[in-house]
Amino acid sequence: MRNLIILLSLLLLLPFAGEGWGVRSMAQTAPKRVVVLDAGHGNPRPGKVQNKVREADYVLDVTKLVRDELGSRAKGLDVYLTRSCDSSYHATQSVDNRMRAEFANKKQADLYVGIHANAHNKPSVNGCEVWVLTLNEKLMSQNDNVAARYADEGDFIDAKDLDRSSMGFMMALARQLDNEPYSRFFAEECCKNMASYGLQNLGVKAGPVFTVLYYFEGPGVIVELGYLTNEHDYNYLTSKGAKKEMAKAIADAIISYFEALDGSGAEASVEESAEESAEENNKEVGELTEGYTIQLISSSYSVDTNDYQFKSYKGKVRELMGSGKYKYKYCYGSYATSEEAKEELEQVRKSFKDAYIVRFKDLEIVK
Ligand SMILES: [Zn+2]
Repeated sequence: MRNLIILLSLLLLLPFAGEGWGVRSMAQTAPKRVVVLDAGHGNPRPGKVQNKVREADYVLDVTKLVRDELGSRAKGLDVYLTRSCDSSYHATQSVDNRMRAEFANKKQADLYVGIHANAHNKPSVNGCEVWVLTLNEKLMSQNDNVAARYADEGDFIDAKDLDRSSMGFMMALARQLDNEPYSRFFAEECCKNMASYGLQNLGVKAGPVFTVLYYFEGPGVIVELGYLTNEHDYNYLTSKGAKKEMAKAIADAIISYFEALDGSGAEASVEESAEESAEENNKEVGELTEGYTIQLISSSYSVDTNDYQFKSYKGKVRELMGSGKYKYKYCYGSYATSEEAKEELEQVRKSFKDAYIVRFKDLEIVK
């Protein structure tokens, strides 16, 4: 069992084996894998226009070719497109980006792939690159990274507009830590594949906060096919067969990604490791099926109990169900009497000052 996990983590170059699997409820159910392909821009925003090439049209063609490629080669995969005609979601770009993320969230996508072509003030800049989300303070304030590139207002969230103490930010940060190894795995594959067609490999990039990646809850990337503003890249991208090649590069990376996730017995080991940690958790909280426990936080959606936000209680909390909007309750300990719980509460409040004692029965909070 342990070897399988080690193998798996090596496969994905995962620094947090067993912890990074917070992506959706992959561990709980036999997965139907879902990928959302998002062709960037769309009327009224064409993206970069270079000579006769409109970025919105170009990337839509590539996106449809990716879908076709996956349709014939990855039959078990559900593929959704955010758009299949020249139309965006919303007049305001930041809202538009958010709606694309919401679309992918609703589809419970295991991977979001935004597809763009690049542009830069300096015509000499060339190559393909793939962006992943980071909420690292240093990286995300480096907006110079994009200042010279083509972007619509609203494509990025300004680092200074993020409320670091908000629940939304903390959730996004926790998700990013979980998802980043997966996003990077895909991004590296994709860069390598695109570069095999003669584009310079600029590699995986993380910097400014892409609005769409911030709001999407799973692993996600922005693929930049090459620079329309560079002669070499432009000539390649507009050459016969290039769209198909780019589509193949992306589809190959998607297939590798899901093979790494599900192949080599990965799924079985994920499930086993989830069971194992559940057992450990149960040991941690004792064998009680009813009694008192300490509620640390509640959430409107299910959170991995190994999540970063549980601090030193990471992996030691249980998910119990309650009522109301925030029905997922994350609780620590199980005690026969409220007095016993009270003794522990003091300690817990050092990390979670609003923690309090609740009664539970089986996996539910009871009044
Ligand atoms: Zn674009």
